[in-house]
Amino acid sequence: MKALETDQAPKSGESVAEYVCRLREGLGLTQKQVALKAGLHVQSLGKLERGKTTRLNRKTINGLSHALQVPGEYLESLYRGTPVETVQSVKFCPQCWVPGTPPDALWTNVRAKYCFECGEQLRNRCLSCDELITSLKHRFCPYCGQAYKLPKSKTLKS
Ligand SMILES: [Zn+2]
Ligand SMILES: [Zn+2]
Repeated sequence: MKALETDQAPKSGESVAEYVCRLREGLGLTQKQVALKAGLHVQSLGKLERGKTTRLNRKTINGLSHALQVPGEYLESLYRGTPVETVQSVKFCPQCWVPGTPPDALWTNVRAKYCFECGEQLRNRCLSCDELITSLKHRFCPYCGQAYKLPKSKTLKS
């Protein structure tokens, strides 16, 4: 859990409602502004913050993670009730990463989405099977055998 902006990570015992509300207020945004950014109805966000929403779909999670500038994993882990530690993943540039080396801190920063070096979208999931990548000690996905590093020529559609 080092190198994380801890105030952005969910606190233990915090509900999705409390977490979303805290982040929103931390950013000084109104429900309307966040809803707009997240592509949600302001009523839906209001409901969520009052703890009336028990189901979050992928679109809502993605929207909120964008609007509140936190990794989707944080919201997802709260929603599922799993500790954040277990879903900590490694974010890296599949083009610039050198196998056998740790990922650059500029990639693993929670707010980083694109590579500072080449502009490629950063990855924290296997490109082939979509499993979260939790360690770059290995060069290949343990689930499907896909190499984490991409050949330079291959570009990603995302
Ligand atoms: Zn790169
Ligand atoms: Zn895989």
